[in-house]
Amino acid sequence: MGSELFRELARMVVALADIQELRSFALPYPGLAQRALDRTVMHCLDIGETPPRSLPELWEWCRTRSADDPLFAVPASLVTPGTTLVHPVGRMPTRSCLEVASHGQDGGVVAHARALLGDLEARCGTGERYRKCRRFLARHPVVDQRDRFGPGWSKDVWSRVKDLYGPLPESLLVDDKFLRCPSCGLPALPRNGAVPVPRPPAIAADIWCEGEECLRGNPPELIREPDQARILRRSLRTFLVLPHRTEEAAREALDRAGIDQEALLGPLPAYRLRSTGIGTVDIQVYDRLQPALLATHLSDSTPSADRVLVVVPDELAGRDGYRNAFTDALPALLRHRLVLTTPVNLVPDLGRFRREEKGDA
Ligand SMILES: [Zn+2]
Repeated sequence: MGSELFRELARMVVALADIQELRSFALPYPGLAQRALDRTVMHCLDIGETPPRSLPELWEWCRTRSADDPLFAVPASLVTPGTTLVHPVGRMPTRSCLEVASHGQDGGVVAHARALLGDLEARCGTGERYRKCRRFLARHPVVDQRDRFGPGWSKDVWSRVKDLYGPLPESLLVDDKFLRCPSCGLPALPRNGAVPVPRPPAIAADIWCEGEECLRGNPPELIREPDQARILRRSLRTFLVLPHRTEEAAREALDRAGIDQEALLGPLPAYRLRSTGIGTVDIQVYDRLQPALLATHLSDSTPSADRVLVVVPDELAGRDGYRNAFTDALPALLRHRLVLTTPVNLVPDLGRFRREEKGDA
């Protein structure tokens, strides 16, 4: 019950964050928020907790009470303990919130990102044109005036993708300025609500960025005329822009090892590797903070090849418990077919499979 409530609240947080005047929460509340509030009240009465009195209080709960709080009691095998839905510094949906909101039949935010990319792919007509557009989106989560005159700007690409951008929301502005993380390129906000004085190296804890995981040697970039800038939809910022760095690192590793790849049709960053000597091998690239939710999502469909290497960033896979949580959440039958790896481990892992295959023969 608590897990279901946690997911419903994740969806509420995502929906409310998309409504501009996030902090006003005036009555009457949006229907979805009122329903989530009612469900929380019922749940609290069931477990003998004092219920929240208002939507602002419920929002605060989403910021301070984590998945493993007795209120939700989400098992650690599903969501990493300590995960909150609203970021304590950014006061925006956390990446985990978007992942939790995507868990379930309709696929939530991830499905939204895929639908947008699917439409783009259809509009582009050719795979090559689509990949060009997708690369542009991944490299330009925010487009400002300077970009339009910069190198590599393509009018043709922009005309196809500009509908996927919108104005910068007020909630991402500080003193009428917009901050961009130099590492992931996504929106950033200072902890104390003031534009930080540039004094590298900035302490990561001073600043929140949508990527959440960035190490910052440099202060955020400042966009002084935010009304001239456009920002990519949230679902694509999280599920297209973030994994793109890992996709490029994985492809570089394969290129260096002389392993050819062929892009697979469809919106996903997925490739089939050529002549690996171990049957058909695909790679799929993700950047997800919740390994068990990723594994559950992958188990929903039949693997696209004999082996699918699921590439995630090295920093994530190296984290305590990440690999185990991923593997434990896979059905036993799929564990040898869906293998978690990273850009650094990708080529060595392929070598290991080849040796195993030879050993078996
Ligand atoms: Zn960042």
